[in-house]
Amino acid sequence: MALRTIESLGDLAGKAVVVRCDLNVPLKDGRITDDGRIRASLATLTALTDAGARVVVVSHLGRPDGAPEPEYSLAPVAARLGELLGRSVAFATDTVGESAASVVAALGSGDVALLENLRFNPGETSKDAAERAGFAARLAAFGDAFVSDGFGVVHRKQASVYELAEALPSAAGLLIAAELDVLDRLTERPSKPYTVVLGGSKVSDKLGVIGHLLPRVDSLLIGGGMMFTFLAALGHKVGSSLLEADQIDVVRGYLDEAKRLGVTIVVPTDAVVASRFGADAEHEVKAADSLEETPWGASGLGLDIGPETSAAFAEAIRSSSTVFWNGPMGVFELAPFAEGTRAVAAALTEVDGLSVVGGGDSAAAVRALGFADEQFGHISTGGGASLEFLEGKSLPGLEVLGWQQ
Ligand code: ADP
Ligand code: MG
Repeated sequence: MALRTIESLGDLAGKAVVVRCDLNVPLKDGRITDDGRIRASLATLTALTDAGARVVVVSHLGRPDGAPEPEYSLAPVAARLGELLGRSVAFATDTVGESAASVVAALGSGDVALLENLRFNPGETSKDAAERAGFAARLAAFGDAFVSDGFGVVHRKQASVYELAEALPSAAGLLIAAELDVLDRLTERPSKPYTVVLGGSKVSDKLGVIGHLLPRVDSLLIGGGMMFTFLAALGHKVGSSLLEADQIDVVRGYLDEAKRLGVTIVVPTDAVVASRFGADAEHEVKAADSLEETPWGASGLGLDIGPETSAAFAEAIRSSSTVFWNGPMGVFELAPFAEGTRAVAAALTEVDGLSVVGGGDSAAAVRALGFADEQFGHISTGGGASLEFLEGKSLPGLEVLGWQQ
């Protein structure tokens, strides 16, 4: 079954429409360092204001613990959203309290408001379905209809993603539709060779993905934090690098499974090892089997793939017809450890076929390193959501909008 579209909601002129966006942008000292997710939400918001709707935008930011935390306020996002939309965006200082009620009541046709961070309320991410439904009902009271467009959260059963879509007439927004178009091309007979590149720091989350991806891909390139669990599985010492010791056997299983399936898993042959975590830390390139043979011994940290690995990854990527990449190859935020990520990003821009970058930090990384969005086939706003889709999992936030794989 297909997703319900905005058209299915009928004439929206004068109607109040609650829109779930993913405006979870990276912030540094209260300033937005990458506004990609805000820009990605504009198409739907503009379509709704053009239709004359009264638009109530809701989103989360970061991971506050069910109570207001000023550093996770969406206030800077409201200001940036207003600049990008070219109209003022009213900001409510709470989610379902007095401020939200009065901001929503003051909206005219074509106006836009943003409510404060949904995760300031414990109902948003509660494990208790009744508590989520209770919070969703209070959000639903602000609208005549609901548009779900936060692609980055569709794999989560959360109040504003799932229960809210049940509480009001609901449909998918244009961003979700566009993201699914691309992901469909990656799952329905992707043109071969098909390479997936995995990195980043959410190691345990992403290790689980590999088992599902193996039967679908030709090559899997492993960088970022998860490379060390692979190196450990191959018998190498990894010093104080990120390691999921309890996953080493699982990873050995993946390596065996890959052999059986004829899938190539490319594990780094070298890494950049640092004395400590910091931009001015001393660092050396070491072969994968001698990561502890530095002046810092077992306290050294692997913070990037090495140049030999970068070259091998770049070659594998360039010779593929379909590439999906999630997770930076190293700690790209610190200049000495950004080269692996830069090499992979550059190779993706040269793919003759479909290249997709997925993940909040991965998207921020390619922009921070000076690449333009247009150099890639697609930059997805959702890392976890894209991966779960590629694994063939059912995503609650899509199913509730009528989607079936
Ligand atoms: P995404 O948001 O793209 O899905 P993740 O959230 O999983 O990616 O990971 C991004 C983070 O991974 C970055 O902040 C980066 O610094 C970190 N990272 C990458 N490689 C390493 C490493 N070797 N050690 C520690 N952190 C790493
Ligand atoms: Mg991330």
